[in-house]
Amino acid sequence: MVARPKREIRSYFLKVKCPKCGNEQIIYSHASIPGGVRCLVCGTLLARTSGGKVILEDGVEVLEVLGKIETKR
Ligand SMILES: [Zn+2]
Repeated sequence: MVARPKREIRSYFLKVKCPKCGNEQIIYSHASIPGGVRCLVCGTLLARTSGGKVILEDGVEVLEVLGKIETKR
């Protein structure tokens, strides 16, 4: 168990490829979408949400990590 400080969440965007239809989509690292993040084209589940960082499904390929955003104020 790792205790994490609540402020200063490091979030970023992932460019992923749908294993089923090949659609490239950008997902947020800390998305909180009930049921998970789905492919906009075919509806395949790409990542599960866990209350923190998303967990990518098997076969989902990360093409790029985009712009780390630091939430700090
Ligand atoms: Zn798809």
